[in-house]
Amino acid sequence: MSFDLNNIIRDNIKKLVPYSSARDEFKGEASVYIDANENSLGSPLRKWYNRYPDPLQKQVKNKLSEVKGVPAEHIFIGNGSDECIDVLIRAFCDPGKDNIIICPPTYGMYEVSANINDVAIKKVPLTPAFQLDLPAIEEAVDDQTKMIFICSPNNPTGNSLERDDIEVLLNNYFGLVVIDEAYINFSRFRSFTQELEDYPNLVVMQTLSKAWGLAALRVGLAFASVPIIEIMNKVKPPYNINQASQDLVLQALEEVGQVNDMIKEIVSQRGELEKLLPTLAVVKRVYPSDANFLLVQVTDANAIYNFLLQEGIVVRNRSSVTLCEGCLRITVGTAAENEALVKALKKYAA
Ligand SMILES: *Cc1c(COP(=O)(O)O)cnc(C)c1O
Repeated sequence: MSFDLNNIIRDNIKKLVPYSSARDEFKGEASVYIDANENSLGSPLRKWYNRYPDPLQKQVKNKLSEVKGVPAEHIFIGNGSDECIDVLIRAFCDPGKDNIIICPPTYGMYEVSANINDVAIKKVPLTPAFQLDLPAIEEAVDDQTKMIFICSPNNPTGNSLERDDIEVLLNNYFGLVVIDEAYINFSRFRSFTQELEDYPNLVVMQTLSKAWGLAALRVGLAFASVPIIEIMNKVKPPYNINQASQDLVLQALEEVGQVNDMIKEIVSQRGELEKLLPTLAVVKRVYPSDANFLLVQVTDANAIYNFLLQEGIVVRNRSSVTLCEGCLRITVGTAAENEALVKALKKYAA
């Protein structure tokens, strides 16, 4: 069976008449705006936010298009990647009927979002080398499997998934292949955003929360074919990206150079930790990483986690996660933060 968007969209969404906002119904320039029940007098702030924001974030998308090398009509902006995930599931998965495939250990929100929407989850664990288990995925796919979530570089393991394996899925699977590239800026490998023309079933997700240093603004991105983006736009809340976020993102997108410098620094610090950590008595293994964190297997994850907390250092305890026995996930910090971590781990061993 080959991919046909019409076969996988939910019937109610196909028929859905989306909310038509005041800004949708009048798009021109006027001198008096009394169509949206806004407060024409202003806001109790120096900068005014009294007008509803652009529901389709055109300015931001045009700038993103330049930065990412993807035409604006292939871009969806969500209130964090979390909203992109939720919108995809709500647009394509019938509650109580359809299912999705996820490949643990992986990001937790795919499962939570599916659960919230009463969509079944089929778990096909990664191999011990943290790669896709293609035969097992093929086995798991059934007629109701609407999408497969792939995270590359993967959270919490840090590695990239084999490009050839992802391409096998893109070429053979009749549903959506959603590739979460939250950590792509720290990776040696190239993004799938340049492959949209080749794969009508491809959705690539990225975020401004990691390399761009804008986690608090809540801006997640999805790149896909125009018909998929149109469906996502129909389903999302009309004004999902607030004006303050749109303004600040526009400013930030002018600073590609600064962001690239931060990425270089983080990758360099990651390299330092990759060299240093294995020399410590408490560290059994440091997994290779294409992300801004390291998965580190230690002698006693729970005890070390608690000790680090006492020292004022909080890491993520992943020791109870499939294939991550004894592991802590440690975000690469500033040089000083990383030094504090190493010092504390030495103190624990002593
Ligand atoms: C951090 C992270 C995100 C980002 O989510 P936002 O909602 O955009 O902040 C997305 N996917 C993965 C795998 C992540 O680790």
